[in-house]
Amino acid sequence: MLRSPASRIPTSAICKRTYATLSVQPPLRGLNSVVREKAEKLSRDWKGTSASGENTTNFIGGEFVQSKATQWIEVVDPSTQTLLTRVPETTNTEFEQAVEAASEAFKTWSQSTVLTRQRFIFELQRLIRENADSLAASIVLEQGKTVPDAHGDILRGLQVVEHAASAPSLLLSEKIEVSRDMDTEVRKVPLGVTSAIAPFNFPAMIPLWSIPMATVTGNTLILKPSERDPGAAMIIAELCQRAGLPPGVINVVHGTVPTVNAICDHPSIKAISFVGGDRAGRHIYERGTKNGKRVQSNMGAKNHAVILPDANKNLALNSVVGAAFGAAGQRCMALSVAILVGDAQAWLADLVNLAKNLKVGGGFEKDVDLGPVISPAAKDRILGLIGSAEQEGGKIHLDGRHVMVSGYEHGNFIGPTIIEANTSMKCYDQEIFGPVLVVIKANTLDEGIQIINQNRYGNGTAIFTQSGATARKFEHDVNVGQIGINVPIPVPLPMFSWSGNKASALGDLGFYGKSAIEFYTQKKTTTSLWKAEDALNSRASVHMPTHH
Ligand code: NAD
Repeated sequence: MLRSPASRIPTSAICKRTYATLSVQPPLRGLNSVVREKAEKLSRDWKGTSASGENTTNFIGGEFVQSKATQWIEVVDPSTQTLLTRVPETTNTEFEQAVEAASEAFKTWSQSTVLTRQRFIFELQRLIRENADSLAASIVLEQGKTVPDAHGDILRGLQVVEHAASAPSLLLSEKIEVSRDMDTEVRKVPLGVTSAIAPFNFPAMIPLWSIPMATVTGNTLILKPSERDPGAAMIIAELCQRAGLPPGVINVVHGTVPTVNAICDHPSIKAISFVGGDRAGRHIYERGTKNGKRVQSNMGAKNHAVILPDANKNLALNSVVGAAFGAAGQRCMALSVAILVGDAQAWLADLVNLAKNLKVGGGFEKDVDLGPVISPAAKDRILGLIGSAEQEGGKIHLDGRHVMVSGYEHGNFIGPTIIEANTSMKCYDQEIFGPVLVVIKANTLDEGIQIINQNRYGNGTAIFTQSGATARKFEHDVNVGQIGINVPIPVPLPMFSWSGNKASALGDLGFYGKSAIEFYTQKKTTTSLWKAEDALNSRASVHMPTHH
């Protein structure tokens, strides 16, 4: 793997204030001056994260603490391979400290009133808005997406924060008189210590699917961000602290499989929210539920767009190109398959022309449409899948394998790629998670629906048509959890909940919205008798209560 000189600094040298005395090059040499300035500012402004080669801390019991880990994971800028920071493989002792802090904080936080917790949410909302530029800079540096796309990442998380502010309504209890002077009340009470495990592709949004919902319902949380881009989560943790969240209510620990397994196994952790790939998702679901935890697991996808010949061509093609190649295809709701039905097959050339015009480059550069993929390993995997299509008889109409980006020669860039394929090919069967659109030709809408329903995933799908009847048939017949009609990325806003289905999700309760209230609470029913006559005189009843 190509690395800037900074990434070759020995492990022991990666700490504050030592660079001046080292003979190796200072950190961030691989970044241009504009980006370097942003990286240095991030390191200066935030306690737990660094973008200039220092270590990322854990956040335990309200303190940003340096880990005593012996194993560290490098976080590099995917546009240049420059070392930005390292995250610890949190030690067992540190993990125990985090659970202890969360358990201790739960004793008081769970007793706070919902109005106190709502005030925290209001403050957090304000602070995220105020600090969106810092969050975006961290996301662009570590994840590689463009600046506008990073702001979208933040905004979609912020919308969950804003929805969490309606907790006093969402948590309203139910109560009815079940017999004379006897009431039954159902209350939604918190679970205890909960946990969230996040993927790399939305460093702000996905932590924000859990942080506001877990805390506003009275739980405490241990967050494990992706080890590939932990910066946004650390900034959000600091914003939570500034917003008045008491120590221990949210804790951040870093690491990989050992830390995830510790979360699955710890008896004090009651629930796990996971978002990421299939392998980890199934493992965490199985291990967590076996240990008696509530687990929600959002996983991989293959999202199909069906384009009918009666569609508004301009809208359909631009929507598909944007949703296939935006964020370099690294969205779980990216449209990765386009099914061209009947005469719409003739639009393939127009699709290719639109995709060809997209600009690939560093995320901070102006007018760039897509940045790099997350790692050289991800790039190799994607290139392998494109190559497999060639071997299996697929036709590559647009080939982004050899894209060169001036000034970013070492970045993990792949240009937009369009492959005409069929459903038996590897490039169709596997989630590519890169800027690759597989095109399939179908004769009828029914054929298209059959292809989609036979696919194991069920995250999202979209249809482009001008016919209400056709759209309605599609909506009824297609077995996918999130459907767009002339909408390419139909992710529901947080007054609804995430509803991916089939192999894209495990667990009954979706993320955010009303489902999250169910996920983060348990029901407590109380039946109470306060006889009105007791206010005067009464005698004991020896009959079995029958509620008549
Ligand atoms: P990933 O599964 O590699 O990592 C996700 C998290 O799991 C990370 O925190 C990682 O440390 C941990 N992890 C990874 N491998 C593990 C293992 N073997 N055992 C235990 N823990 C493990 O996923 P990623 O590459 O970061 O993210 C991309 C994937 O996430 C794609 O498949 C994408 O579709 C999916 N995703 C799904 C949604 C959704 O809502 N359905 C949203 C975003 C991303």
